[in-house]
Amino acid sequence: MKIALLPGDGIGPEILRQAVRILDALRSDGLKIETEEAPVGGAAYDIAGDPLPAATLALAKSADAVLFGAVGGPQYDALPRDKRPEKAILGLRKECDFFANLRPATVFPELADASTLKPEVVSGLDIMFVRELTGDIYFGQPRGITGARGERVGFNTMHYTEAQITRILHVGFRTARQRGKRLCSVDKMNVLETTQLWRDIAEEIAPGYPDVELTHILVDNCAMQLVRNPRQFDVLVTGNMFGDILSDEASMLTGSIGMLPSASLDANGKGLYEPIHGSAPDIAGKGVANPLAQILSMGMMFRYTFGLPDVAARIEGAVRKALASGLRTADIAAGGTRPCTTAEMGSAVLKAL
Ligand code: NAD
Repeated sequence: MKIALLPGDGIGPEILRQAVRILDALRSDGLKIETEEAPVGGAAYDIAGDPLPAATLALAKSADAVLFGAVGGPQYDALPRDKRPEKAILGLRKECDFFANLRPATVFPELADASTLKPEVVSGLDIMFVRELTGDIYFGQPRGITGARGERVGFNTMHYTEAQITRILHVGFRTARQRGKRLCSVDKMNVLETTQLWRDIAEEIAPGYPDVELTHILVDNCAMQLVRNPRQFDVLVTGNMFGDILSDEASMLTGSIGMLPSASLDANGKGLYEPIHGSAPDIAGKGVANPLAQILSMGMMFRYTFGLPDVAARIEGAVRKALASGLRTADIAAGGTRPCTTAEMGSAVLKAL
């Protein structure tokens, strides 16, 4: 198992370090794990003038899986768009064809109180978002800003091919099949032709999965239902932009963005695994970031890329045990509790493992 480690910026290196401690423990337990680290994002720009240097991309391509921290920071915000740290993630997704983004939003029983929603609304919540990553308005051409001041026009193109829609919907159906067998497809077919096509194709594919119940929901209603009654959902499948926004909304149902892992997979199960949060510049360097989203991302790696669900379950169990011991980083600590540090949480997971 060859794993590329790309720590990135801000809290990225701090949280990745905790995941690597777990990897080291699994290696001494006999798992054949090989790791190699490379700079990415702002850290790579500082060294090489490029957020995704050729050597980093080559490592990501040659590895079986990529464990990614986070990228970005205010010091890079004024750079030209193609030099910005975030360009590295988009570049990796495109170059490695990581088209399927899996984002679980699960509420750990120990953290049912951490959500801003009432515990009775979120406890037991277990949603899987399947988001398309390589198409949609984020990549569509033409795009740009034209015209003179006072008359400027900004434009982007929402664009999806049948092939792109078909392959992500199949991931949605297959994921639903492994879980509660309910797939809800999110679109805006009342206004956008692109998503009318999406809905049509979903209907065409559905007969191939007679054991999965397919429903459709408009994106605005979905945003509302996620805070009204989120437990009605099992698997949600949607395009790049809607998925970006809705999965962040869903993250807050669980209490903290610092708890949520993600996987971005290609057609062969190779994947990039990263927390859904960013580099959190406001707390970087303080040793207080929550490392659990990163550690749980590594758990997903063993499940989806390496086909070792028992190792994934062991990691997830260790996280639950650490939480059950009462330990909380600041983002999930209730008022009055002394928050623990990033390293203390990492140590607790390691001990539980
Ligand atoms: P963010 O996710 O970095 O932070 C949002 C808030 O959540 C902050 O208050 C932060 O302190 C908190 N937070 C995030 N992760 C946490 C953790 N593990 N533990 C505790 N608290 C945590 O989003 P932002 O502030 O909008 O963006 C910061 C930078 O990250 C920007 O440069 C942005 O472009 C970049 N970004 C990168 C990624 C990525 O690398 N995949 C994703 C989103 C944003």
